[in-house]
Amino acid sequence: MIPGSHCLIVSNFSLFPWRVLNYGSQCPIVTYGTLKKKGLYSVKSGYRVACNAENITSQASSSGGSGIFLWNKVWGLRVPPKVCVFIWRLLRGILPTKIALAKKVGLLDVDCVFCHNYAESDMHLFKDCGALNCFWHASALGLLPCPHTGHTLLDWFSEVSQLLPTNHLELLCMCLWVIWTERNNIIWKNSFFNPSHMASWAFKSLENYQKYHPAIRKNSQRPLSHWETPPSGRLKINVDGSFICEGEHGGIGVIIRDANGQCIASLSRSLTHVSSAIQAEVEACRAGLFIAINQGWDNIILESDCASIVTALSSVGDDFSQIGRIVGDCKEFMGSLRSISIRHIYREANGVAHRLAHIASFSNSDKFWLHETPSIIEDVLFEDLCNCIRGSGFMSSSVQNF
Ligand SMILES: [Zn+2]
Repeated sequence: MIPGSHCLIVSNFSLFPWRVLNYGSQCPIVTYGTLKKKGLYSVKSGYRVACNAENITSQASSSGGSGIFLWNKVWGLRVPPKVCVFIWRLLRGILPTKIALAKKVGLLDVDCVFCHNYAESDMHLFKDCGALNCFWHASALGLLPCPHTGHTLLDWFSEVSQLLPTNHLELLCMCLWVIWTERNNIIWKNSFFNPSHMASWAFKSLENYQKYHPAIRKNSQRPLSHWETPPSGRLKINVDGSFICEGEHGGIGVIIRDANGQCIASLSRSLTHVSSAIQAEVEACRAGLFIAINQGWDNIILESDCASIVTALSSVGDDFSQIGRIVGDCKEFMGSLRSISIRHIYREANGVAHRLAHIASFSNSDKFWLHETPSIIEDVLFEDLCNCIRGSGFMSSSVQNF
């Protein structure tokens, strides 16, 4: 592809289900809802898109648990990374078992190295081999792989993963990995099959790994945040967007308050032809900034509960995503203000803007109030005033000055 040429369309291509719209001197520009935030292509974002597409397919065609939920569970297990990779290969059916090699390269000896009675398929080796019963019994799991309704190892594992607690599932993965490693040792190193050694090997390996990789404790629930008044002399703009998939419409809400928490201006506007929630959010930012510029207010704090938008507006450089043009407008507005800070807040601290956006999304209203408080937000305004923290002009790390 020649840099500078345009409009390479690769839609409907199964591995890369996105559209390349442009090809600049640096990298392709792609459109996809969950792609890179700035619309730029990277290997990581491409891999994620391919995985998402594949998960949609597999969830639609598989009878249970083989979608993204299962993979998240596998990759989240506290087992050595090599074991996670092994499980992934196993469940994807890409392990070079003897049956797989017989199909691909015509391998003649397909006997199971443990029982020598059956062909070595993945189902037989990891689940049905009678010679491994003593190993399964000796393992700390104390279980035998049980009959199941599915026809593939993926179905079996999906079923088992829903039944076993996480610590048992981790040990099961170690056991499966030990079976494969022992099988390779028998084939390539002429070692002897020793079920009790395999059982203690699986248990000890897991124990050692978990000893040096303790579980990460999840943070306790964060305390609820509250709206904070701006410092004296500054105005605070809270914005929010609402999006309704059906009908592709939405609404935006903007509330501007002074250091006393008094409503200076507010806006509730419905939107048509909205393609995403993030578009509604950035439209709200643009509307809030436009009001400030239009009214000649230039000492502003802008707050949004959409972290992606705060990041987009705080970053330098062009934004090639679907909302890039609106982000560009916002940056232009921000550049024309004497003082502007933007920060992310949690949703519960953005109740007034949320109310205005929510109402707008269910009506065709386009209402702007200046120096008056609309009755539809009186209660949430009062609630904010009762719970608010008095701003002292601090700058949190998330604040970006322009
Ligand atoms: Zn066997």
